[in-house]
Amino acid sequence: MIYLDYHATTPVDRRVADCICHYMTEEFGNASSTDHAWGDRAEAAIQQAAQQVADLIGASPREIIWTSGATESINLAIQGSLLAPLSLLGGGAGGEGKHRIALMPLEHKAVLDTCRALEKRGWAELVYLQVDSKGRLDLNHLKRVCAEGVSLLCVIAANNEIGNIYPIQKIGQITQHYGIPFLCDGSQAVGKIPIQFEAWGITYLAISAHKFYGPKGVGALVVRRGYHLEPLMFGGGHQRGMRSGTLNVPGIVGLGEACRLRSLEMEEDEQAIAAKRDKLQKTLLEKIPNLVVNGDLENRLAGNLHISIPGVPNSAVIARIRHKLAISTGSACSSGVEAPSHVLQALSLPEEIADGSLRIGLGKFTTEEELNAAAEILVEAVTNIQQLSNSTK
Ligand code: PLP
Repeated sequence: MIYLDYHATTPVDRRVADCICHYMTEEFGNASSTDHAWGDRAEAAIQQAAQQVADLIGASPREIIWTSGATESINLAIQGSLLAPLSLLGGGAGGEGKHRIALMPLEHKAVLDTCRALEKRGWAELVYLQVDSKGRLDLNHLKRVCAEGVSLLCVIAANNEIGNIYPIQKIGQITQHYGIPFLCDGSQAVGKIPIQFEAWGITYLAISAHKFYGPKGVGALVVRRGYHLEPLMFGGGHQRGMRSGTLNVPGIVGLGEACRLRSLEMEEDEQAIAAKRDKLQKTLLEKIPNLVVNGDLENRLAGNLHISIPGVPNSAVIARIRHKLAISTGSACSSGVEAPSHVLQALSLPEEIADGSLRIGLGKFTTEEELNAAAEILVEAVTNIQQLSNSTK
């Protein structure tokens, strides 16, 4: 069985798992216990993790709020900022005292559905930013939308399906110019491409540990100094009142260690991953006639290969290979749903391209041997389906 679904999740690095295990079994203190050494050591571990996260993304450790993952971080940023009085948000609001949120149609569902829930309640109006058939963002349109006044702008750093990398630094400059808070979903980007939170003018950055060899169920929201979010959960007033609840010390230590390792190894790992991906892409293009590679090939995550084989439904491919090869038809959250993903719909691709799309995700543990075998499995399945469909014509 070959695992090529690294956008859905990654295995935990053994070095990270060892740290987590230590903080589960030996250093199990509660970071809020100020009366004894277990608490002190747990608190020190949290401080160290905050420094490790901050170092990877160019932020200050004081700007980090620990969460259960990117979904919670995104909810906290969107709901927490919109619950704050309109006057505190800068930028501007829409009609009838509603917030105006600008976002790309190909954001992750964590962003889209949070915004849509606020829209449904009548608290916000949504403005969709324009993208082309490769998913590239129209920056001129974005500037016009910002000039008209927006309470919050949401742009993903790297897309979880087609792998596009967005010009976050440029977008940060635009939002700073107009004084608009900027939420960047960094789930697929942090630990894979350089991100500079402070220097690029990001207001809120969502991070998820399980996308870069850390554990599931832990993440962070980086909140720029001077910005306050209304809490979504009330309790012990942890984390400056923005997110109550006992800290998940082992998970946070794991997130910190995963960030430390990425700071050291990201550049080299990602170059090697891109080389392997390019080789696989070349093989598939040679062996599968009509194969289309989707997304922005100039600005793409190293581990992403999003393909379509027109006339070959992706569900037929998955049915044939699922016991040998783990790839996906879309994001983990929406697989199992038969319709093309909202990301592909946003690109307005022809139906047979959307129906024949497959997401392949490589990571640092992917080997050449696995990729050679994966290519064979895919080519065999596709040839099989094509022969069958030709014989029934
Ligand atoms: N945003 C993006 C781009 C993602 O890929 C994911 C995970 O699938 C999320 C948000 C949600 O992250 P989490 O699983 O940490 O809630």
